[in-house]
Amino acid sequence: MPCQTSEELQHLVELSKKYAVNGKVADYIPELGKANPNDLSIAIHYPDGRCISAGDISKKFTLQSISKVICLALVLIERGFDYAFELVGMEPTGDPFNSIAKLETMVPAKPLNPMINAGALVVTHMLKGNTVEERINRLLTFIRQLAGNPNIEINEKVARSEFETADLNRALCYFLRQHKIIKEDVETLLDLYTKQCAVEMNCLDLARIGMIFSMDGVDPLNGKRIIPGEIARICKTFMVTCGMYNASGEFAIKIGIPAKSGVSGGILGAVPRKFGIGIFGPALDEKGNSIAGIKLLELLSRSYRLSMF
Ligand code: GLN
Repeated sequence: MPCQTSEELQHLVELSKKYAVNGKVADYIPELGKANPNDLSIAIHYPDGRCISAGDISKKFTLQSISKVICLALVLIERGFDYAFELVGMEPTGDPFNSIAKLETMVPAKPLNPMINAGALVVTHMLKGNTVEERINRLLTFIRQLAGNPNIEINEKVARSEFETADLNRALCYFLRQHKIIKEDVETLLDLYTKQCAVEMNCLDLARIGMIFSMDGVDPLNGKRIIPGEIARICKTFMVTCGMYNASGEFAIKIGIPAKSGVSGGILGAVPRKFGIGIFGPALDEKGNSIAGIKLLELLSRSYRLSMF
């Protein structure tokens, strides 16, 4: 079913777009610096297959940190709760996503949660498979299934661009390896992690993934369960408590939707039992969240009373 352009959504996009001038595209990954800061698009995917959108939803972007919640779902499926949470915690940090500070003060040096870089690196480390290729392909297959799109691929240029410049993530990995939380070769893990972050899609794909999470892991169109309900619940809880990095508290108060953002400007939203949301707006605020995207979600949440609280 094609996605219908919605005038109501278009209106909210126009109102939110103005805020992009106060943001900046991420350029610490050089390839991401090429994005157009004025882009803003949204798709909403309903469980009955209907879809509405506004803005240019053909624009593709890489998942970046949004991949963290998807990878966590797969690792929990593959490894189980106890195995995963032995090595990564469940508490929000209040620090920026790439901070190393808490690792130094925690004993053992277990990252606080899977939504910050340190925790996500540990989760990615747990992906099953013997080679990077095998592991990334497992994740890609899972993502394609969630999005209902077999054509989703990795943007190799973005992956390489991050791999070549990811010294902070390298530092996190070495720290975690020294403390025996991570047990594999750092370059191998970074190769896998940067590929995971560079999985590319558009808002429509992202909205469909959000819809599956919103329906507790079931694809309502064919009744097939893709994620066990308990794991979908854990992922959505992390989205609420840690999904928008150190802006998660304010986001929960103002918007109240389980969501996960990425530095490419993407936001995945899952309104429980209602619909999935995919947003792309690459101009970011100082915490690394899409500035116009957050505004758009705020308007949407207020207009349609979407807060779960
Ligand atoms: N790949 C990015 C990084 O590790 C993801 C961070 C993000 O989206 N906040 O820095």
